[in-house]
Amino acid sequence: MLTATHVASAPRSLAVSAEDLSNLERAVALYASDMPSRFRWRRSENATVSAWIVQGADRLGLAELYRSAAYLQGYLLLDMARSTTTEQDRAHRARFRDARRLDRAEEVASSLTCLTGTGMSQAAKDRGSRPLVEGVCRCGGSGWIADALDPDDPTTAFHTACPVHNRTGTRPLVVRGVAA
Ligand SMILES: [Zn+2]
Repeated sequence: MLTATHVASAPRSLAVSAEDLSNLERAVALYASDMPSRFRWRRSENATVSAWIVQGADRLGLAELYRSAAYLQGYLLLDMARSTTTEQDRAHRARFRDARRLDRAEEVASSLTCLTGTGMSQAAKDRGSRPLVEGVCRCGGSGWIADALDPDDPTTAFHTACPVHNRTGTRPLVVRGVAA
């Protein structure tokens, strides 16, 4: 979980603004901030939301904030594809123990990003397209997740593009050393 242990060991960040952070980095910063878990976004509270983002970023330190947001993004992508492992589920729950608070933080961050025209630096956009997987990915880094309709019948095997390591589905599929 993103808690005081992280705060104690985290390097102090230099002044950062919401514009310097990707959407999920804003969400993770809000999660770690003093934002009440029941907070509902209103346009009139933009300045407060931005201040919470800076507060959360400062608590975590930028390195931890970037990493947590990249792990969160990777997890959300795998979860949408129903391809998370037990290890990844556990790591995600340990990192974000309060699922409701995380949902709320994501909502508030998205509202700020989509509804207020709050800008985003190119560096933040670039980081926002680099998800990470916490633990071993089911694709093993190959970009393809192998499944079988019948585990005992190899002729029913099929491969799905990994949403993190093969987002465009264009990596060559290599099965037993044979490129398809
Ligand atoms: Zn993968």
